Amino acid sequence: MDLKHQLENSQITLDDVKHKIKTKSDVILIGAGIMSATLGIILKELDPTLTITILERLDAAARESSNAWNNAGTGHSAFCELNYTPQKPDGSINCKKAFEIASSFEISKEFWAYLVERKIIIPEAFIHSVPHCSFVWGQEDVAFLKKRYEALIQDALFKDLEYTEDRATITEWMPLVMKDRDPNEPVAATRMKLGTDVDYGTLSRAIFQYLSKLDGVSLKFHEEVKDLEREDNGLWNLTSTNLITHEKEHHEAAYVFIGAGGGSLPLLEKSDIPEAKGYGGFPVSGQWLRCTNHEVIDGHFAKVYGKAKVGTPPMSVPHLDTRVINGQKELLFGPYAGFTTKFLKKGSYWDLAKSLELGNIFPMISAGMHNFPLTKYLIQQASQSHEDRIEALKEYFPDANSEDWELVVAGKRVQIIKSDEKEGGVLEFGTEVVFAKDGTLAALLGASPGASTSVAIMLEVLVDCFSDKVKFAEWQTKLKKMIPSYGISLHDNEELCRKSRARTHKLLKLTPIEELQTSNV
Ligand SMILES: Cc1cc2nc3c(=O)[nH]c(=O)nc-3n(C[C@H](O)[C@H](O)[C@H](O)COP(=O)(O)OP(=O)(O)OC[C@H]3O[C@@H](n4cnc5c(N)ncnc54)[C@H](O)[C@@H]3O)c2cc1C
Repeated sequence: MDLKHQLENSQITLDDVKHKIKTKSDVILIGAGIMSATLGIILKELDPTLTITILERLDAAARESSNAWNNAGTGHSAFCELNYTPQKPDGSINCKKAFEIASSFEISKEFWAYLVERKIIIPEAFIHSVPHCSFVWGQEDVAFLKKRYEALIQDALFKDLEYTEDRATITEWMPLVMKDRDPNEPVAATRMKLGTDVDYGTLSRAIFQYLSKLDGVSLKFHEEVKDLEREDNGLWNLTSTNLITHEKEHHEAAYVFIGAGGGSLPLLEKSDIPEAKGYGGFPVSGQWLRCTNHEVIDGHFAKVYGKAKVGTPPMSVPHLDTRVINGQKELLFGPYAGFTTKFLKKGSYWDLAKSLELGNIFPMISAGMHNFPLTKYLIQQASQSHEDRIEALKEYFPDANSEDWELVVAGKRVQIIKSDEKEGGVLEFGTEVVFAKDGTLAALLGASPGASTSVAIMLEVLVDCFSDKVKFAEWQTKLKKMIPSYGISLHDNEELCRKSRARTHKLLKLTPIEELQTSNV
């Protein structure tokens, strides 16, 4: 008797059988963005025998935040992002975050250089040298930029930073920014030729393409993870629904990484781990102006970051941005923010409401009450017309022509809300990994500095989730091979920093270190 007839004679239906099918693996990665790609490849390089299942709700990898058009593609190194160096009340500059981010990006470059050596990725396809510049105007901001430069230049990571107040030099660095600008206005700029533009989408897809061909790796598209629970035997049991066939599947694993971008918070809540309590999320949507005039695009070659206006959130820092997407030079300006209730670009308008729980409703309300300026800012941004956006662009490109620019929709950022003893709830703009105490589950929340620091973040996941193995000499040796500076800080270590950059720039085909010539004016 075949299975169908057996089933007909029993109480079990074919659907029941399908629903009980279990895939078993050592590790499950939820979401196919840059974070899961990075963790997946690190794990497989460390232990090729590991079995990994990757579950992605869309039809391809990197179609949410990691997609090139959905983020700014900045290899964040704090060279130009002024929000990473706030001014302290005594007027001095706090460089702590800048050093952390710059060190993390060097770790990413070392790891990508290793993947190039292993012929897993091709550098020209995803990373390009694009100078990182900061530009400010007005006495106060000029004084701030100078102080920032003087503080950063002391460190090995920022040794090649250049500073100028000379209009001719700034015109050379960023001609569009200086054209038709008031000649009496004090201006200043910094430049770091070491800056990069990174297509995180292409990078993620290349890694997944490689991973999917390896023994023990299963990459499943259209599989939306709906639930996850801990079984009595300590393993995680995940339920996913195929968004095409609507069939359910069960998946079992010892370790789970929730790298679902905006979709991470709802899944973390479903895991019911005590560490998830009190977390909420506030989604913010992004938009860019994309230049359609090739003459203008060719007239600019830099990522020029300005200063966020007083009372606006850090992710609102305006930038006029050279990008390289699908091998083509592009020019974007933004980001413009907007209010949304979706956690993912291809998500549901119910995402925000569904994320509310007894444990996070108070922190969410408190954070809302303490962040009226943000709400005001989002309403102002959402109600802008094309001409309003062009006015904002003209602060960085005074000669901009409205007809040369079109609006494109970027990805969503779900900002973290955390319960806080004093305030009730606080809104945070960074990235945070929430771990189960026993290290069997990790979830990545937040979106900044994001993809640039993916390697450093995944090393953190490794230490917490695979603490027993990571101590072994075998893993330590392999990690040192992947990331030569592993365990040593490049911050304040000039010789090592130079050595690391000389190697990564050669392998990643970036501006050779020897060509850097500081020309402070
Ligand atoms: C406007 C904007 C600008 C940014 N600029 C920069 C920048 O310049 N530099 C930088 O380094 N970073 C930047 N970032 C941040 C960066 O894009 C993110 O940190 C990074 O892409 C996050 O990667 P991820 O893999 O966690 O998430 P994603 O790339 O969003 O991937 C998550 C995946 O999970 C899938 N998923 C979700 N829910 C489920 C589910 N239930 N089941 C199965 N699959 C699911 C999604 O479909 C998606 O494919 C920016 C972000 C935004 C929005």
